[in-house]
Amino acid sequence: RNSAEKFEFQAEVSRLMDIIINSLYSNKDIFLRELISNASDALDKIRFLALTDKEVMGEGDTAKLEIQIKLDKENKILSIRDRGVGMTKEDLIKNLGTIAKSGTSAFVEKMQTGGDLNLIGQFGVGFYSVYLVADYVEVVSKHNDDKQYVWESKADGSFAISEDTWNEPLGRGTEIKLHLRDEAKEYLEEGKLKDLVKKYSEFINFPIYLWATKEVDVEVPADEEESNEEEESTTETTEEEETEDDEEKKPKTKTVKETTTEWELLNDMKAVWLRSPKEVTEEEYAKFYHSLAKDFGDDKPMSWSHFSAEGDVEFKALLFVPPKAPHDLYESYYNANKSNLKLYVRRVFISDEFDDLLPKYLSFLMGIVDSDTLPLNVSREMLQQHSSLKTIKKKLIRKALDMIRKLAEEDPDEYSNKEKTDDEKSAMEEKKGQYAKFWNEFGKSVKLGIIEDATNRNRLAKLLRFESSKSDGKLVSLDEYISRMKSGQKDIFYLTGSSKEQLEKSPFLEQLTKKNYEVIYFTDPVDEYLMQYLMDYEDKKFQNVSKEGLKLGKDSKLKDLKESFKELTDWWKKALDTEGIDSVKISNRLHNTPCVVVTSKYGWSSNMEKIMQAQTL
Ligand code: ADP
Ligand code: MG
Repeated sequence: RNSAEKFEFQAEVSRLMDIIINSLYSNKDIFLRELISNASDALDKIRFLALTDKEVMGEGDTAKLEIQIKLDKENKILSIRDRGVGMTKEDLIKNLGTIAKSGTSAFVEKMQTGGDLNLIGQFGVGFYSVYLVADYVEVVSKHNDDKQYVWESKADGSFAISEDTWNEPLGRGTEIKLHLRDEAKEYLEEGKLKDLVKKYSEFINFPIYLWATKEVDVEVPADEEESNEEEESTTETTEEEETEDDEEKKPKTKTVKETTTEWELLNDMKAVWLRSPKEVTEEEYAKFYHSLAKDFGDDKPMSWSHFSAEGDVEFKALLFVPPKAPHDLYESYYNANKSNLKLYVRRVFISDEFDDLLPKYLSFLMGIVDSDTLPLNVSREMLQQHSSLKTIKKKLIRKALDMIRKLAEEDPDEYSNKEKTDDEKSAMEEKKGQYAKFWNEFGKSVKLGIIEDATNRNRLAKLLRFESSKSDGKLVSLDEYISRMKSGQKDIFYLTGSSKEQLEKSPFLEQLTKKNYEVIYFTDPVDEYLMQYLMDYEDKKFQNVSKEGLKLGKDSKLKDLKESFKELTDWWKKALDTEGIDSVKISNRLHNTPCVVVTSKYGWSSNMEKIMQAQTL
């Protein structure tokens, strides 16, 4: 087109598109769910804006919050239209090509190492999946603040933008036209699209319509049959509606099948979270999780908690523990305020960027909160300040921690104070190993929780797992540790280091192992920080066995030994004074090793010093 302005795709976006076009990925279906998800996001946005400014919604058809799918078999075009917020010219340029999102390069990298294209939506680049099935794509869009524009690209490194002077005006919203490749003709079949929408988009909160052919029963006068013979050659007579009595009063009619085209609703907009937990099946929860998380792998969520809170603040919530940690969970943990919780007020989507609904350490949870108590007609900023949010947050944390605790309680591999019968154990068999799996994916979050959340520190400490000098490769809990503490042992012993292998060789362990004490191994850099916050558990103090203060019961000989070696220790202290040594002591903590440097009680352990030097967390 003459008036079109040309733009180059940003380099990473261009690479991404190349990968998608050349992909041999067999599940090309995913493009549809990505487009529907974008349409739904755009509708959420306009509905949200209209809460505080009714004008923006417009009137008539424009105000209909719906998604429409049309098939043009002749020209091999599949189009998806929404009446959402739309995109200005600038939005089109930025969102669809020139500004790479943070997920772009992460996704490109994943794809180059055999990653799953199915996860494209999680990386925030779902739009480009259209090039799995199309070789030419047009995006027609009308935003309230701008004229109607067309974005178009053949995925050849560039795209063009033109003011739209030829298409029908959209009123508001976006229509995406996919010019399908020959291999993708199946997406012109109505049956295929109906199946796909059912499969992938059943939880979309807006009606999705397909312009579909339909056979309808039409009554035609029987005597017109002959004159219409040619037109009706494709219809069949199914039923003769005539009785003896009617014959004289009415003209003869008959019912024939005719094919018409009309908008057919494909989804029933189930708000799973508003239903009673008793009525929702496991499979529905799993499917809902997949659509929420944009995670369409085969894995089910590890667990979920569906509940409603009553009282001053009423809300319904559904929380999931994902089967795997998302790719960027601990990346930029401290500066990202990303939450995976969607906030709804009376079924109206408000935001998924409320950073204060859950604390950071629980940001791995996915879910939905829908509150009747929060006001609908205020800005997001005002809502963020609303006092009810505190209550909601508190309850969400409590429920989340309960849910995680249950993962452990139901796992027959897990230690529990409660003895289990064989029957109970076999009933639990399918939950075997689930807590270890959880720990593997999200253990670090529990540790960060202990550091960040003083109120729930004890609850979180119960969820801790670690290896120890007696755990034999298995994971141990603090409760299990305590249950087998030696009589007379007051403190919980632990040692920090970079690996289990290193710790097993530590001279600090010699005497403790010989005397049959169990020592916890902390080998994650975050453990050093953790132990600065976790002072005690169930009235027991933690003792780093490489630090001053280790007490191993009474040793009557120790006093005499101290006396007789006083001269040596005094000399030593003097000799090492300038090296930063506080004191030199006779101790019973060693067995084979003659002497060892220990850290003072309030000092950093040597492991911590290493970490500080490496500045890793
Ligand atoms: P994501 O949806 O995760 O942001 P996408 O690649 O699917 O990533 O979409 C990129 C961006 O393009 C969206 O963030 C949005 O700003 C814009 N966009 C895509 N489709 C639409 C649409 N139907 N209506 C309005 N904006 C859209
Ligand atoms: Mg998207």
